[in-house]
Amino acid sequence: MNFGTDIQFAQKMDSQDPLANVRSRFYIPPTELGRDSIYLAGNSLGLQPRSVAQAITHELEDWQAMGVSGHTQARTPWLPYHEFLTTSLAKIAGALPVEVVAMNTLTVNLHLMMVSFYRPTPSRHKIVIEARAFPSDHYAVESQIRFHGFDPRTSLHIIEPRADERTLRTEDIEELLHDAGEEIALVLIGGVNYYTGQLFDMERITSAGHAKGCYVAFDLAHAAGNVPLKLHDWGVDFACWCSYKYLNSGPGSVAGCFVHERHAHISTLPRFQGWWGHEKETRFEMPPDFRPAPGAEGWQLSNPPILSLAPVKASLQIFDEIGMTALREKSLLLTSYLEFLLDRIDTEELSILTPRDPNQRGCQLSLVLKRNGLRVFEGLHAAGVICDWREPDCIRVAPVPLYNTFMDCYLFAQGLTAELMRVGMLARIE
Ligand SMILES: *Cc1c(COP(=O)(O)O)cnc(C)c1O
Repeated sequence: MNFGTDIQFAQKMDSQDPLANVRSRFYIPPTELGRDSIYLAGNSLGLQPRSVAQAITHELEDWQAMGVSGHTQARTPWLPYHEFLTTSLAKIAGALPVEVVAMNTLTVNLHLMMVSFYRPTPSRHKIVIEARAFPSDHYAVESQIRFHGFDPRTSLHIIEPRADERTLRTEDIEELLHDAGEEIALVLIGGVNYYTGQLFDMERITSAGHAKGCYVAFDLAHAAGNVPLKLHDWGVDFACWCSYKYLNSGPGSVAGCFVHERHAHISTLPRFQGWWGHEKETRFEMPPDFRPAPGAEGWQLSNPPILSLAPVKASLQIFDEIGMTALREKSLLLTSYLEFLLDRIDTEELSILTPRDPNQRGCQLSLVLKRNGLRVFEGLHAAGVICDWREPDCIRVAPVPLYNTFMDCYLFAQGLTAELMRVGMLARIE
């Protein structure tokens, strides 16, 4: 596609966008002047679908009117409530229904999964994560390693980019697994790295890990709802993701979890147990012996928080209607257009950290500023451009295909240009 630099081009792209009307299904936070902000922070907190308030109200009303009977009588009965999300989640994850469940929050699920799938032995005790993994993931794996009596200094392997490179190469990950795989118990990588925006080749990493007998898992916080996933076909052992970034389900909302079908019926897998993971038919007989429900549901602990699941359900409905294929199609255009505009800003002090290959990224671009990064970011914010700052020098920008427009990208590039001129990093506009 040949992109254009003028505002008319952005207008034309928006007028031809088959998903243009989806934006009206979301609340766009206004600026102080009452205009729509340029909201490019959906990778941090997705916007609220207009359908969410009513979804929550329904549950409040049913609770008011029915009390405990709501468990079975509510319009969406609470006992099996999580099951109403299964089909949609399976589509997001590229999974069989038995492989997914909505439960807990992301870091909690990572721990629950590691209880089952990180079982270190003296000869195979390492966990592999990517450089710049999200801090919570780093803390979680470190604490799991210590919990089992091992030392993160010898049991945690962080894959770093090559010297002078800022993202990882799949072949380097494969080589590591090939050479040192026998010592590696678990590979746990962010499917899309939150900082660099790099999308990993999960299929190749999974098969390289499996060839050496490692479990292979992904944190999909920045991938779910952002890029198409095929977790089942790729053979991934487990995956966890939150629902408040690209899945637009609200701050701290209920997370998702995937466990591959091959583990669905192994009742002897060690796990932390709770009554909601017990097989459904006999759960309320309250038997003393735990029999796990098949699949991902068998890792549930508690009866689920209906008021937090309601927004997830409402939000997933939008994904069901549109589908990841159409979303990805728009996303590829939107992000390439933003990249095109940024490449035209004439300064060596601004660069893009995210891979240039569209197959190695989702919608996010991470920009690096050699100086004045925070000042530029704050100036953008004051001008109604909402993006995200990461120390020491990174501005993350995520045009989300559900509600962002080509005009948003255009106005971001304009705003960034103006800020770079204001702080003296740009003399002229090309
Ligand atoms: C956002 C994010 C988290 C946040 O974890 P919570 O348990 O939801 O607070 C963890 N890991 C990654 C990779 C993330 O992007």
